[in-house]
Amino acid sequence: MSMDLNAVRADFPILSQQVYGKPLVYLDNAATTQKPQSVIDAITHYYERDNANVHRGVHALSERATAAYEGARKTIAEFFNTRSVREVIFTRGTTEAINLVAHSWGGYNVRAGDEVLITHMEHHSNIVPWQMLCEHVGATLKVIPINEKGELIMESLDELLSERTKLVGVVHMSNALGTINPVAEIIERAHAVGAKVLVDGAQAAAHLPVDVQALDADFYVTSAHKMYGPTGIGVLVAKESLLQAMPPYQSGGDMIRMVTFEKTEYNDLPYKFEAGTPNISGAIGFGRAIEYIQEIGFDAIQKREKELLAYSTAKAEAFEGLRQIGTAKEKACVLSFVLNGVHPHDLGTILDREGVAIRAGHHCAMPVMDFFKVPATARASFSIYNTEAEVDALFAALKKAQEIFG
Ligand code: PMP
Repeated sequence: MSMDLNAVRADFPILSQQVYGKPLVYLDNAATTQKPQSVIDAITHYYERDNANVHRGVHALSERATAAYEGARKTIAEFFNTRSVREVIFTRGTTEAINLVAHSWGGYNVRAGDEVLITHMEHHSNIVPWQMLCEHVGATLKVIPINEKGELIMESLDELLSERTKLVGVVHMSNALGTINPVAEIIERAHAVGAKVLVDGAQAAAHLPVDVQALDADFYVTSAHKMYGPTGIGVLVAKESLLQAMPPYQSGGDMIRMVTFEKTEYNDLPYKFEAGTPNISGAIGFGRAIEYIQEIGFDAIQKREKELLAYSTAKAEAFEGLRQIGTAKEKACVLSFVLNGVHPHDLGTILDREGVAIRAGHHCAMPVMDFFKVPATARASFSIYNTEAEVDALFAALKKAQEIFG
C-alpha cells in the first residue's frame, strides 16, 4: 500500500536537476507528468532495435514493431477493462480523441434541434469540438452549472437532460479545479434519456482506477503524457457497437481493406480509425507507462496523493491573502489559487527563479475563470514523486513573492 518515495523519485531522471541553482520542484503535473526511466528506455529500445513500420512488413523488425505496438494496445485495454482490444483506438491525445467522436459519431448522430450537454468546468478541448458540431448541424450546446466550491450542481441535471440530449461530455477530473466528478451517476442518468456519454479522462486516468465497463462509459478519452508516458499519443476507448456504426474520421493508408477508384472497403476495428503510419514509439512508451502505474498500484498512488493534497491544502488555508479556487469535497491533488496583489503570471515567474515550476493562466478553462471572476490562477499540481519538502518550498517561494509585491 505504501511506496518507497526515494525509489520512485530515482525512477525519474529529470527530477534530480537544478534550475537557477535551486533544486527543481516540479509542480506542473496536471500539464504533463515527468517520465520514468523505464518509459524512456522502452522508446530508446524501440528505435535502437525494432524500428520498422507496423502491420505490413514481412520482415523481423516489422513483426517485432507490430508485436510491441499491439502489445501496448492490449496493456491499455486491460488497464481500462475494455471488452476487447478493438475498443482501443490510438489517437494523438485527448484532444484528437474528442474531435474524432465529435466528427464521426456527432456528425452522424446529432441533428438540428438536438442538444449536447457539457459542464461549466470542461477543458476547451471538450467544449470547442461540440460547439463547432452544434453550429454546423443546428444543435444546441447546454451546460451543467457549478457551485462556488467548483462542484457540478447535480440537481440541475434533471432539468437539462431530455430526449433531445444526444450526448453528455463530462470531465472526470478538472484540471483547473481538481474536482472529481460523479461520472457513474451522470452516465446512468444520461443513459436513462438515451444519451451517450463521453468522459474526458485526461487528468483522471493516472490518479484513479478506471473501469469503462463498470462505468458503462460510451467514450473514454485520455492522453499518455499526463500518465508518465510520452506526448503525441493517447486513446479513445469506446464501445465496439458504437465504433462499428461510426464512419472513419481520417482516411488513407492502414484504415482500408480494399481500395478501387469506385469504392473503398474499410478495415476492421481498431484500424478503421487509425489512418496512416501511427505513433509506434509513442504507443510503446504509453504501454510501458501504464505498466509503471500498475507496478506502483492505485492504492499507493491514491494514498500518497491524498497526503500531499491534505498537506498543501492545510498550508494554503493558513496562508494569508491566498484564495483557493476549487474546494470540492471530491478533489484530486490540484491546488489552484490566487494571491492578493500578485498576478498569477508574476507569481509563476518569481517561483520559477526559486526552482518551483507551477502553471499560471486560464488552464484552457476560460469559463471556469469567468465563473470565479479571475483572469487566471496559479496552479500547483502534485504527482507521486512530490514531497512535503517540495510543498514547503512552494509556500516559501509564495511568501517571497508576497514580500516582493509588498
Ligand atoms: N482535458 C483535460 C481535463 C486536460 O487537462 C487536458 C490537458 N490539459 C486536455 C483535455 C487536453 O489534453 P491534450 O492536450 O493532451 O490533448
